[in-house]
Amino acid sequence: MAEPQRWIIHVDLDAFFASVEELLNPELRGKPLVVGGAPGSRGVVASASYAARAYGIRSAMPVAQALRLCPDLIVLPHHFEEYAKRSAAVMAILHEITPAVEQISIDEAFLDVTGCERLWGPPVEIGRLIQRRVRDEVSLPVSLGIASNKLVAKIACDLGKPQGLVFVPTGTEASFLAPLPIERLWGVGKVTGARLRRLGIQTIGDLAAWDVESLERMLGKAGRALHTAALGQDASPIAGHRERHSISQERTFAQDLGDPEALGRTLLGMSEDLAARLRERHMVAQEVRIKLRYPDFRTITRQVKLPQPTDQAQVIHAHAAALFQKHWRPGERLRLLGLAVGGLLEGGGYQLDLFADVDKRRIRLNRALDEIRRRFGPEAITRASLAGRRGRRGD
Ligand SMILES: [Mg+2]
Repeated sequence: MAEPQRWIIHVDLDAFFASVEELLNPELRGKPLVVGGAPGSRGVVASASYAARAYGIRSAMPVAQALRLCPDLIVLPHHFEEYAKRSAAVMAILHEITPAVEQISIDEAFLDVTGCERLWGPPVEIGRLIQRRVRDEVSLPVSLGIASNKLVAKIACDLGKPQGLVFVPTGTEASFLAPLPIERLWGVGKVTGARLRRLGIQTIGDLAAWDVESLERMLGKAGRALHTAALGQDASPIAGHRERHSISQERTFAQDLGDPEALGRTLLGMSEDLAARLRERHMVAQEVRIKLRYPDFRTITRQVKLPQPTDQAQVIHAHAAALFQKHWRPGERLRLLGLAVGGLLEGGGYQLDLFADVDKRRIRLNRALDEIRRRFGPEAITRASLAGRRGRRGD
């Protein structure tokens, strides 16, 4: 039997925080407003209304700069509980359409509506239904992109904003992407973008027309991945609904943090804690997941499947650090860093024979460390690498 036609919908609320503020105070409607920090302190724009965007104001811009662009700008503090409530209401609507929902931030999600036609009609009908329900039940504007995969659906959604619904028929993905600037592709930031432009690659179509071997020579593995993306191909599945039991830790920084050493120490510390909690519960994890939240509250999570289940901090940390290296660009500052271990299985802990290549000495050491932590509290022990760096830096 032929594979069913795959349909992915990307749903993204328009100017989410700002739209909620307009909802809470209708007098603000249509006025240039941003949600963000106080201009003097650590003020960046977290969300700008479309009236504010008309002045060139964007997320992550310092509030002081935004005020120069628009002196009448209304700057509001955030009301996170209100945003969280509405986000949950929108996600609940999406889950009524299909359980295959992958929430990727407070205001964004992917839905896999493959095979939903009989229940809800063709994908564009499903998109209209979502838009109507979000408007009627939560009073918020939302944009959607519909395509045969996540990559194209997300770009389609971005292009239609605000209140757009952009449908890309199967077979037209590459031609849909071709005229767009290469920076529209996931994974093309400032550095890669500049590099590609130096090669004369301006649009996604230019990139697709390049020879994949020479791209790979110049950019490594990423070259091949970019070429595939430029053709509008993406096989990545919807991840959310298959998420299994997991435990996690998050650190919100008092000030946005961009120092790689400090971020690395945070990851190491969280790896230790999660591993200790796994061993406490006699469980092992099969996945490691990191979460990065940027100053504009944009949040990404990235995960990797482990070659073998583990309850060892060193293993968790090695994979977390590799993920971090891959997805964090030097200079980027973070508001929050999170680490989670998932795909938890019973029967970990000290059943040494289960996992042949686990270093038994290391396990005995960890068992001793756990014992000390239990008795003297988590601050009692710090690994040498943590202590050493702390010492060097004199804090
Ligand atoms: Mg949004």
